[in-house]
Amino acid sequence: MEPLNKILLIAPCGMNCGICRAYLREKNKCTGCRGIDANKPLTCVKCKIKNCKVFQKGKVKFCFKCQNFPCDNLKHLDKRYRTKYNMSMIKNLESIKKLGIRKFIRNEKLKWACIECGGIICVHKGYCVDCGRRKI
Ligand SMILES: [Zn+2]
Repeated sequence: MEPLNKILLIAPCGMNCGICRAYLREKNKCTGCRGIDANKPLTCVKCKIKNCKVFQKGKVKFCFKCQNFPCDNLKHLDKRYRTKYNMSMIKNLESIKKLGIRKFIRNEKLKWACIECGGIICVHKGYCVDCGRRKI
């Protein structure tokens, strides 16, 4: 079983905060979307999805459970990430829905593991934070 803190690293939008540069940095480490606001990038503090009323009410843990899924905010974010970082939040959400969160996290671990050193590939940087090897 995955420890709870790992599950908390998956944001409502499907983003894996564990591969984010703000989480992976040494200084002022972000605790992830579901964590406290300290050290969070401003874009994450102001994020329309995290601050969405449906999510704030606490009834919906992931966007795919929302009746407005996929809403324009999510589609916009998804498009930005697909274009810039070759990663899709909506695809992540669909696989969480299909496989369950634990299996999704297991797959994510393999997907973003560096083949050189076993470190984590940062989605924003596109390379391993430990040895610098690029994702293939
Ligand atoms: Zn590496």
